Amino acid sequence: MRTEAASPEAHGDTPALVWTETAGARWAFTRRAEGNLALHVGDEPADVLTRRVRLAESAGCAGFRFMDQTHSDVVVGVEGEAPSISPETGTPRDPVSADAMTSSSTPLGVLVADCLPVLFIAVGPRGEAVRVAAAHAGRAGVLNGILGKTVEALRSAEPEAQIRAVIGPAVCAGCYEVPEEMAADAEHAEPGIRARTRWGSPSLDLKGAARRQLERLGVEVTDVGVCTVASSAHSSHRRDPGSGRIAGLIVPPAGPSAAAARAWHADAENPTEERA
Ligand SMILES: [Zn+2]
Repeated sequence: MRTEAASPEAHGDTPALVWTETAGARWAFTRRAEGNLALHVGDEPADVLTRRVRLAESAGCAGFRFMDQTHSDVVVGVEGEAPSISPETGTPRDPVSADAMTSSSTPLGVLVADCLPVLFIAVGPRGEAVRVAAAHAGRAGVLNGILGKTVEALRSAEPEAQIRAVIGPAVCAGCYEVPEEMAADAEHAEPGIRARTRWGSPSLDLKGAARRQLERLGVEVTDVGVCTVASSAHSSHRRDPGSGRIAGLIVPPAGPSAAAARAWHADAENPTEERA
């Protein structure tokens, strides 16, 4: 939405980050050009928080809520404004310990560098996004069912919604080499996940397995089709362990500012009505 470069780390010819709109929710996957966005990889917290603030500005929201991700199957519902973050004082960790968050009002972020960032949009009967989610699914998450649990959480909050999912930049089956025993164990738990690398050794197809899990639940799935190992524009822990984390970001239509505006209009139109 902005025309200038998205961050000082961006090269002069790097196009600004593009935000896509789905049913009123806006989402994007960052690149190395937007800089490392994780607080736990040894980067200066003030620099990380400055980059997060800059992304929030480019999305037109107050800030993104990130998670302290642990490869768990924990899904947390969050609402309200993202915690205010000061580049000067910077919190040392992200306060939500989970691997997926759902929200009707809070902009959400998930950090990755080869694991799958999966963004969800629950579209209500009127065609408007009523809730969003952001999930982190690496090998552990695909096998422990974090994606299905995210769908379950969205459905329990919004039983009438149709759910769409976007699988962002992540390692592909051709690049994700694993030991033979790990491939066999994973195949036992999730039939179809076993694959081969480009050079013929055992690998895992995390994106394919994620897509099948979601489609089995009636979710409409889009895959942006980017392999982080192959794309030098994206961070990959396998290719370059020091390259930090990129993010999947999603902004629900009913952000704090929209909710505040609605409340103000309701008051102005019904001045005698008592506030709840
Ligand atoms: Zn690849």
